[in-house]
Amino acid sequence: MSTEISIEFFPPTTAEGADKLRTTCARLATLKPAFFSVTYGAGGSTRERSFATVRDIAAAGFEAAPHLSCIGSTRDSIRAILQDYAGAGVRRIVALRGDLPSGVQDPGEFRYANELVEFIRAETGDRFHIEVAAYPEWHPQAKSPKDDLAAFKRKVEAGADAAITQYFYNLDAYLYFVDAARKIGIDIPIVPGIMPIGSFSKLARFSDACGAELPRWMRKTCESYGDDAESVRAFGLDVVTRLCEKLLAEGAPGLHFYSMNMAGPTTEICRRLGLAA
Ligand code: FAD
Repeated sequence: MSTEISIEFFPPTTAEGADKLRTTCARLATLKPAFFSVTYGAGGSTRERSFATVRDIAAAGFEAAPHLSCIGSTRDSIRAILQDYAGAGVRRIVALRGDLPSGVQDPGEFRYANELVEFIRAETGDRFHIEVAAYPEWHPQAKSPKDDLAAFKRKVEAGADAAITQYFYNLDAYLYFVDAARKIGIDIPIVPGIMPIGSFSKLARFSDACGAELPRWMRKTCESYGDDAESVRAFGLDVVTRLCEKLLAEGAPGLHFYSMNMAGPTTEICRRLGLAA
């Protein structure tokens, strides 16, 4: 059976960025991903741009899966977005709680992602294939690992079809997480999120914010390269390819690449994995 991959983009901010993303998307399409997903800014801040990017991907003949976050939103606004997406032929949604933009206090009419999943199912039945987020190293705001797993289970019970994980570099965290999920009856595919390593300092900042652990040996190795971006890149490709090989050998149901809107790293990792045409 072939390995299913999916690839994530963020919506570009400029017309030039949008042109560049069309080229990137065409290059990555040679990997035959099941879908390209498009992120959604905190509090709906990228609503128009996300929608435009989704339309571009669909117009190029590929399957697009918009991310949709609910915190800070009303039911009416989410209903309108779902209608727009249904009208544009979208068949998949990545359903998230999201985070409130800084300075915003009002959580709106949804508190957690399971409520969004429930709402999508109530409003649109089985029209959308719904993916949700999962956290092998635990969500930074989770009260405990047990609570986080219970929250994940609520999303599945609300109607999620599959999960995509936060990225991680500790294989055992993912394996333990999948085992723990199976033990409490979660049976949907849990697709590992894969973050290729580009700029190490950016990755370190981002990882701190989202609660993904950068193992000490990786951090120390990258730091030792200083400004030598080529060595960081080569090291990152080796580490991430090996992680993917092990994940697939352990039975991961697919790979979801956080492409950062770049074709090169994802393509090279897939080439090394024997997944590129
Ligand atoms: P939830 O599943 O609702 O969980 C959020 C937290 O609340 C967890 O700590 C959970 O344990 C806890 N919790 C859940 N239910 C309860 C309850 N009933 N009582 C108490 N605690 C509870 N962010 C964006 O802004 N845009 C994106 O496009 C985006 N895409 C993402 C894609 C993936 C694959 C992943 C893994 C993350 C993405 N994020 C995105 C980040 C995500 O929005 C944040 O991690 C956010 O903080 C949590 O969203 P969630 O859907 O996981 O929330």
